[in-house]
Amino acid sequence: MNQSNSIVVVGAGTMGAGIALVGATSGMRAVQIDVSEDALAKAQSLHAKTLARNVQKGRMTQDESDAAASRIEYAATLDAAAGADFAIEAASERAELKKSIFADLQSRVTEDAILATNTSSISITDIATAVPGAEDRVIGMHFFNPVPIMKLVEVIRGLATSDATLNATLRLAESMGKTPIPANDRAGFVSNRVLMPLINEAFFAWMEGVAEPEHIDEIMKLGCAHPMGPLRLADFIGLDVCHDIMMVLYRELGDSKFFPCPLLRQLVTAGRLGDKTGQGVYDHSVA
Ligand code: NAD
Repeated sequence: MNQSNSIVVVGAGTMGAGIALVGATSGMRAVQIDVSEDALAKAQSLHAKTLARNVQKGRMTQDESDAAASRIEYAATLDAAAGADFAIEAASERAELKKSIFADLQSRVTEDAILATNTSSISITDIATAVPGAEDRVIGMHFFNPVPIMKLVEVIRGLATSDATLNATLRLAESMGKTPIPANDRAGFVSNRVLMPLINEAFFAWMEGVAEPEHIDEIMKLGCAHPMGPLRLADFIGLDVCHDIMMVLYRELGDSKFFPCPLLRQLVTAGRLGDKTGQGVYDHSVA
């Protein structure tokens, strides 16, 4: 099966923008698609800034930076996925949205194209039901934030994912400079099943007045050797993203420990989503 030198990335938010950039800096052509013109403009500006910083810090030459920038194409519709042989979906964490994107992609990409999803928690087997006849080519490719820095890609095989799809995905992840590690298709896989209860409990501790957010984070940093406290990490991930992942875990695993803390839900309702909106647990507007 295919050894791709080009990728289509659907979604140009926090994760999609990073995935497209890493593809381009690894020598691939990357088509970055988003329904939001604003998200596309932000991704393009982030790419330009990151590449400029890489040149400044001596990580790449100006020519390499220009070449990487020229390998990224920006598009507002899935028409730009025509003929692709490797698509990575990184749109919002909603099963119905992802399924509709997969169904749409299936009609545009090549016959043996791999359809990967960056979902944090949704069942790969479930997403694959949207592409009848192509279930063997659906796989989870779970990158971590910030994509250019984090080495891990959790690779998740659905019930029907073929060996060929798995092998091609492992190769693609490696050619992007990442370390792929397999996990099985259970809600949240390994990373979020373990991380989200920690983040949720930190919100409960804050809500119940056990300590102020800064102190909760410092205690977990200094006491548990975490590089970042759980509330700071939640802002970084996006409070809406955390909320959506917890809801998937709650529904799929049926355990109330995954149900999002009322305080987290309140912040999401208020639009305080973390770094991306300037306010979340913390105020990032003056950083
Ligand atoms: P985000 O909210 O920053 O970006 C999502 C993007 O998807 C938005 O720009 C939105 O306009 C776009 N989108 C929505 N509908 C679309 C459609 N029909 N076609 C094309 N684009 C569409 O979210 P994110 O943090 O980048 O998360 C994206 C995915 O990656 C989610 O599945 C999330 O669970 C997963 N993920 C997130 C993180 C993280 O730390 N944020 C880490 C790993 C995985």
